[in-house]
Amino acid sequence: MSLALIIPDRKLDDLQQRLTQALPDTRIDVWPDIHQPDAVEFAVVWKQPAGCLAALPKLKAIQCYGAGVDAILADATLPTLPIARIVDPSLTRTMVRYVDGVVSHYRLRLDQFSLQQRQALWRPKSPRRLQHISVLGLGELGSAVAAHFVSLGYQVSGWARTAKQLEQVQVYHGAGQLAAAVAQADVIICLLPLTQATQGLLGQTFFSSTKPGAIFINVARGAIVDDNALLDALQSGQLEAACLDVFSQEPLPAEHAFWQHPAILITPHVSAVTNVATVVEQIADNYRRSQQGLPLLNLVDVTRGY
Ligand code: NDP
Repeated sequence: MSLALIIPDRKLDDLQQRLTQALPDTRIDVWPDIHQPDAVEFAVVWKQPAGCLAALPKLKAIQCYGAGVDAILADATLPTLPIARIVDPSLTRTMVRYVDGVVSHYRLRLDQFSLQQRQALWRPKSPRRLQHISVLGLGELGSAVAAHFVSLGYQVSGWARTAKQLEQVQVYHGAGQLAAAVAQADVIICLLPLTQATQGLLGQTFFSSTKPGAIFINVARGAIVDDNALLDALQSGQLEAACLDVFSQEPLPAEHAFWQHPAILITPHVSAVTNVATVVEQIADNYRRSQQGLPLLNLVDVTRGY
């Protein structure tokens, strides 16, 4: 039996070495060099080429190498198998720090001052009054982000698929309450999974329901947002600025209008990258569980899409 790492375009020496240490009796193959496809029983996967999982006839389980499984589920030939994803306190902390940094960037008007600097303009201004933050998606990451901003004294609202209670967070749920969830927000942070229900969800109707002059941060998936509707919202002033870490097409094409937009801050999908050192044990654990016929940790509900 063997474990396959199917994570194209990444150096995998460290992950392979750590997994070999954690699972000394298991052969770890790195795709596309799979020694014996019919010996592979467990695959660790990120943005796999379509069809490569279907080519492993003895596969028992799939471990996503990140928190979002949309790219795995997009494979039309995906075998019907349990899929687990990464849930890692270290990843969550990284995401909280990223959005905290971005909110501070706007609160301190670093966006405006960096534009002024290029023109040698000395125009002092007091910080932006950002008081209310809305978090779309209140799962592992969104609920931690919401709790962080509560702890800093912000008013926080949030939106999820189902009703829930989070301390000092005004929670809205379901499609009918999306507009209410963002109506008062100075900053909107998107931490939804990309599913059939969320694809293109943040479009013209959504941006017309935001507070005029709000700041929008997308750290989830690019395809949740309608790019043209976002550009229109910035153009009209409905949004004052946007920080985007994720895009429908990655890398973001050089000719895309986002690159040169003065009100858009771009980071190249770096807000919370999987940390080999902190996830290797949960991957090894899930491998052992699948060998023992036990349910995997952090299982994905494939019918829900997250
Ligand atoms: P979870 O699965 O833990 O949480 C998802 C949240 O979204 C839940 O609160 C869920 O509601 C809500 N949700 C799902 N569908 C809908 C819907 N149709 N309407 C309203 N709410 C919905 O995910 P995580 O918090 O772990 O991660 C969120 C996403 O962040 C990932 O899917 C991934 O795409 C992205 N991500 C991005 C990273 C980056 O580097 N940029 C790094 C890591 C993750 P409910 O609670 O009711 O189920």
